[in-house]
Amino acid sequence: MKIICIGRNYAEHAREMKSEIPAEPVFFMKPDTALLKDGAPFYFPDFTNDLHHEIEIVLKISKAGKCIDEKFAHKYYDELGLGIDFTARDIQQQCKQKGLPWEKAKSFDHSAPVGQFIPKSKLKHVNQLDFTLEINGELRQKGNTNDLLFSFDKIIAYVSQFVTLKTGDLIFTGTPEGVGPVKRGDRVIGFLCSEILLDFEIK
Ligand code: MG
Repeated sequence: MKIICIGRNYAEHAREMKSEIPAEPVFFMKPDTALLKDGAPFYFPDFTNDLHHEIEIVLKISKAGKCIDEKFAHKYYDELGLGIDFTARDIQQQCKQKGLPWEKAKSFDHSAPVGQFIPKSKLKHVNQLDFTLEINGELRQKGNTNDLLFSFDKIIAYVSQFVTLKTGDLIFTGTPEGVGPVKRGDRVIGFLCSEILLDFEIK
């Protein structure tokens, strides 16, 4: 399986990063070794001093497809969850300055913790989902899919022009504003529509 991540998909986050608001989706990938599941603890890596949380809604692809038409894209995922797109911000800055790829900053082992997935059918409208991130009980990020620059369907249609989607692939759909550092000892909890779907500790 592969993990596809959409960058700058919420305008306020693009602004806080002093990045341009993209005219078309921006994506990058993480390998399967980036996955961290089942509430397992995340061990703070040695190579960064500025590790940031990015809470994101994650789609689980339910059937294979290539060049998927946007109007059929909703048929290609049937479960959603929450994940953290962990980002070594200091390394990402260095890569950006040198015009280098971001894998060292974004795709390292366990950089993609995901929680429990729930059926899409349990949710009313996928374009009006509230989600939040709390760290040690304090609200850090709050988003609503209403503010997505590119909808889930548009993302699936766009990405599948370039990369074939397969069953079990995950798509991280972008983070809202409020990204910031984490540290050892933090308890990370993600809520989707007030339900806890993600819960793990940083060690
Ligand atoms: Mg992200």
